[in-house]
Amino acid sequence: MMAQYLALKAEAPDCLLFYRMGDFFEMFFEDAKIAAAALDIALTARGEHEGQKVPMCGVPAHSAESYLARLIKAGHRVAIAEQTETPAEARARMGSKALVARGIIRVVTAGTLTEEALLDSRSANWCAAIGEAGGAMAVAAADVSTGRFEVIPTDAAGLDAVLARLGAAEVVGVEDNARATVTRPRGEFDSARGEARLKALFGVATLDGFGRFDRAALSAAGGLVHYLDHTAKGRLPFLQPPRIAAVAQHMAIDAATRESLELTQVAGGGRRGSLLDCIDRSVTGAGARLLAEDIAAPLMDRAAIDARLDLVQLFHDDSALRAATREALKALPDIGRALGRLAAGRGSPRDLGQLRDGLEAARALGVRLGRIERPPDLLAGLLPTLGGHGALTDLLTRALVPSPPIDAGAGGYIAEGYDAALDDLRATGGDGRRAIARLEADYRTRTRISQLKIRHNNVLGYHVEVPAKHADALMAQDSGFTHRQTLAGVVRFNEPALHEAASRVTQAGAHALAAEAAHLEDLTAAALDKRLAIAATADALARIDVAAGLAERAAEGGWARPSLVDHACFEVEGGRHPVVEAAVAKSGERFVANDCALSESSRLWLVTGPNMGGKSTFLRQNALIAVLAQAGAYVPAARARLGLIDRLFSRVGASDNLARGRSTFMVEMVETAAILAQATPHSFVILDEVGRGTSTYDGLAIAWAVVEAIHETNRCRCLFATHYHELTRLAERCDALTLHHVRAREWKGDLVLLHEVAEGPADRSYGLAVARLAGMPPAAVARAKAVLAKLEAGRAATGGLAAGLDDLPLFAAAIQAEEEASDPLRDALAAMDVDALSPREALEALYRLKGLA
Ligand code: ADP
Repeated sequence: MMAQYLALKAEAPDCLLFYRMGDFFEMFFEDAKIAAAALDIALTARGEHEGQKVPMCGVPAHSAESYLARLIKAGHRVAIAEQTETPAEARARMGSKALVARGIIRVVTAGTLTEEALLDSRSANWCAAIGEAGGAMAVAAADVSTGRFEVIPTDAAGLDAVLARLGAAEVVGVEDNARATVTRPRGEFDSARGEARLKALFGVATLDGFGRFDRAALSAAGGLVHYLDHTAKGRLPFLQPPRIAAVAQHMAIDAATRESLELTQVAGGGRRGSLLDCIDRSVTGAGARLLAEDIAAPLMDRAAIDARLDLVQLFHDDSALRAATREALKALPDIGRALGRLAAGRGSPRDLGQLRDGLEAARALGVRLGRIERPPDLLAGLLPTLGGHGALTDLLTRALVPSPPIDAGAGGYIAEGYDAALDDLRATGGDGRRAIARLEADYRTRTRISQLKIRHNNVLGYHVEVPAKHADALMAQDSGFTHRQTLAGVVRFNEPALHEAASRVTQAGAHALAAEAAHLEDLTAAALDKRLAIAATADALARIDVAAGLAERAAEGGWARPSLVDHACFEVEGGRHPVVEAAVAKSGERFVANDCALSESSRLWLVTGPNMGGKSTFLRQNALIAVLAQAGAYVPAARARLGLIDRLFSRVGASDNLARGRSTFMVEMVETAAILAQATPHSFVILDEVGRGTSTYDGLAIAWAVVEAIHETNRCRCLFATHYHELTRLAERCDALTLHHVRAREWKGDLVLLHEVAEGPADRSYGLAVARLAGMPPAAVARAKAVLAKLEAGRAATGGLAAGLDDLPLFAAAIQAEEEASDPLRDALAAMDVDALSPREALEALYRLKGLA
């Protein structure tokens, strides 16, 4: 056995090995220690291996799922080694001392789950693979719980944003890929192999029908399919044909921005308090999953955004239709995941029941929505996929009982009247049981023991039971009863008539079970035959749920349909931050709506004002409005008109990020550098207190340079919040920069924060008033006042922190001057007369240039 165990373990060295022994999965050696600690179960020992006791622990096979869930959550991978033959088969093969054959039937990993118990019904579970070829890159991602399969072309710069958007549970890559959480041999990412694999998988001669696959896309998709095949040990889960995204189909949002805006998760982890949580009114798991995807990947195509918005508007404007649709969806089972389980070979009768009910409900909803006059294009496209399952639902309706069980083992899920032979077997079983019931009465008359009972358990089967004091009569030689068992208060017997009736029941039962199992297999095959159409129905229902849910949320909050335009404007009237608004409302206060109006002539807003004045909130609400609008949702504003945004950036000054490990100022600078390198004139950037993480002079200098660079070079739309009052001087030199502040007022010695964004610079700093508001002792506040007076007097005399900045040349001119001043390489290049060079001189010139670099 140990040899067999070690051989299996060698097949899956990076996994914990669940080794099936009877009713248990056992783990040995290191695995046992790790699992015992992670699961908090007893660690024991068994036998010896090379003179050492073998550590061991085990979990019952019937409840293995919950243990698996905990191990996967804790970051482990688990290989399941099952018995692949029965003990009888093993004996027939090898004689009495036979060891049953075992094999790894599956590797359970975080990215390849289909079990309901191991998945969150409201989020997708992506497994991603990174492919690379000829300088291009691509990410392929599959959610095997529903069969979704996406391929996203990208490049080295965009890769992180794509991975951040997917939030994959596993990322597969070649051995030296730093982003991969699982590595596989390079050969599995070979693009030619990938292409062949995909063609075979989908039975097509060319992949053109799915979109344009470059070699990187083939490498990624091929690598992913190989990995899924590897974890499923040859039983590849259901995959829909891949959908390949166009390059730059989505607004690029990097990981730091997602984190800072808390789009789908809050900073501490978890969904509560995120934008997604605040807007999600979907009533199905599939709807919630799709909404999470939409928010994570806002679109770049106006027509596609408008198509989504048209559907939301339909439900927004017709509240009766919205209510009826949501009511219908609420009752829907998750057919996408039921299908995923059936395709993975782990389906149950209940999954088939869910398909039957879900598809029938989809048809009914389709009829209802089909009555709409002039439906929006998106809906018109979805309607045909809602129906067309009549033959399958009819079959399942005839074949299955109304609510089939999860466990097929006990049978009873095939409906009466579906199969006459099965009905006969059941009748025989029923007759037998009735005969047994009659026997009980007979025995009582015969023995005159009124407490006599016929009972059933798994060990003895059917048997007669009498209280111990009456046992003697039945013990008698000629009683016809045979003694089986004596317990504390009762004695148990058998009797020939009972035995015969019982065998009839058992036999009929076994045959009935086998017949039901055969039907289950046929019905599953019939359903899988239609899996693409079923998946399309599931997707359509999810899209309808998302639209109706967004409409509900918009109606609840009085939100508006945004309009998207091509030029780079950003006009929001009466904008609100949905998450802060909800929090403010809870404490009984009113959220103050604010306008924002960025345009060609006013691209960069510099926002000043006291701490706690509402600067961050204002910045973020506008970024969130951009995300919602391009995701095809209504926005928390009275009116919004936005030019499409290609990249969104949000950065917060270091001191808010203390929870992170790296030097926080370093992080702040790395992230700011990324913005300056990547933001285009179509991007939208919010920067909150950048430069705060270092000394005053450094911080001011950096903030100053960043504002200039964004204004002159990136030329994107930007909201910049700062407490460096000195930056307001930039308004004089940057023509598209305007000054704004959050209003505050001192009233009877108290500071009142109005949370209102107004034009112009803040008239003064309110730091001391905020300190008092925060409860700093009056004596300390008074002392601070005195110090401030001194400092301000000094500033008046010397020109203060920003003294001397007035002579600073403009950013662009300064950069140019610097470049021109010191670039020997450029000079040498300029001086070179290429046409006059012989090949040999050209080579020498190259070496010379290289020396200058
Ligand atoms: P700052 O960035 O200026 O320090 P924040 O944006 O963090 O200020 O806002 C501080 C608090 O003020 C928020 O947590 C919220 O409670 C409240 N607040 C912010 N904006 C508004 C608003 N527009 N209306 C009402 N309350 C607001």
